[in-house]
Amino acid sequence: MLAAGMNMGHYCRLCGRIRPNERFSGNGHRIHVCNDCAKMPKADRDAIEQEEEICGFMRQSHISDKNIARLRALSASDNSRIADLASLVLDVAKVKPYKKRRLKVLARERRDLLEALERTGLIHVHQ
Ligand SMILES: [Zn+2]
Repeated sequence: MLAAGMNMGHYCRLCGRIRPNERFSGNGHRIHVCNDCAKMPKADRDAIEQEEEICGFMRQSHISDKNIARLRALSASDNSRIADLASLVLDVAKVKPYKKRRLKVLARERRDLLEALERTGLIHVHQ
């Protein structure tokens, strides 16, 4: 029953792959991290999770004060990509904390931020 086995795969939120159940151990199953990713150095894992977290703030309808405090902390990260992403989203939050019409406002007032968002992959604009 190969096909059935394939359907029983499990999603790893770090590598983004659907992997067979046997590639996950007990705790990894619960936190959606496969055995290979579980062996990754903690700093690498943290960076993947933090990048996801920052992208998540951009998808929210509103970047809250609590999110801003978190972004401030992340902008001081030793990981330069995380620090850059966090600083960028912080700047966006200052201009337009609400997602509604954010891109339009940025296009008009902060073209530099909009371009940085595209460059870093935080948004995908097709125009
Ligand atoms: Zn994985």
